Amino acid sequence: MKDMDTRILTTGEMQAEIIRLKKENDVCILAHAYQSHDIWEIADYVGDSFGLSLKAEAAAQDTVVMCGVRFMAETVKILAPHKRVILPNPESTCPMAEQYGKEEARKLKEMYPDHKIVAYINTTAELKTETDVVVTSSSALKILKNMKEEDIIFLPDPNLGGWISKKLPEKNIKVFEGGCPVHMGISAENVVATKESHPEALLLVHPECREEVISGADFVGSTTEIIDFAKESDNEEFIIGTETSIVDHLKFACPEKKFFPLFKGTICSDMKNTCLADIYGALLGTCGEEIVLEPQVIEAARRPIERMIELG
Ligand code: SF4
Repeated sequence: MKDMDTRILTTGEMQAEIIRLKKENDVCILAHAYQSHDIWEIADYVGDSFGLSLKAEAAAQDTVVMCGVRFMAETVKILAPHKRVILPNPESTCPMAEQYGKEEARKLKEMYPDHKIVAYINTTAELKTETDVVVTSSSALKILKNMKEEDIIFLPDPNLGGWISKKLPEKNIKVFEGGCPVHMGISAENVVATKESHPEALLLVHPECREEVISGADFVGSTTEIIDFAKESDNEEFIIGTETSIVDHLKFACPEKKFFPLFKGTICSDMKNTCLADIYGALLGTCGEEIVLEPQVIEAARRPIERMIELG
């Protein structure tokens, strides 16, 4: 057997080292639901981006490692500015969050001066500074319903915006080109083929999917809502229309039930960019990036998030 210092650590050994280091250095580890199961196991909290930001704000530790993509680490920093926030793999970005910047938002405001800008939480801190209200996939419907304004510009996801628009016909919601390339990859053909293969299964999909996919679903909800629905349902089989890691996590959570991906290609390479070794390196100080935002950006980006909390 090779010496411990020179051989490669096993997954279990690396997890044990991460747990030791996070305790020793008083670090809180947050993992988004789309992270792999080995990362879930070493995290203090697992959830969606907004839920994790609230956990970070309340956590006793002064340092937070956010296992996810950049906008999530930025959101943690906005809500917990006094904490040191580390993104373990700095190349983990969200292509959807990068679709609209501050300049595009300003141009849209000029074109539609009577409209309020509502942005999905999957946006950069810079875009949030030009936004009136931020929403999450689970809060979007309620927030838009509670807003007194009827004319809305919804950025950046036309699928989520379109789904809300159908539910709230009294609102005038403008959506634009863009969306999540991962969820956009699922088609109506996938719905037909997977339902044919698993006729007893319920189809649960994320609202980032195309309308043609959403219209065939038994349930539409955020990642957390999909997980909760599957756990609580009496049904035994489910087709999952979101990132395929949710299929794996549900198999762990409910081994007596069956879960199938709606489309096997629904893999977010940016979310999968972070691995245990990145987290280990972030704790050792050999990799990762500390998120630094200007105080005025934090202040301006926090306002639309607080507005969401008020409206929710
Ligand atoms: S799944 Fe889509 S929205 Fe989520 S991080 Fe990946 S690209 Fe962004």
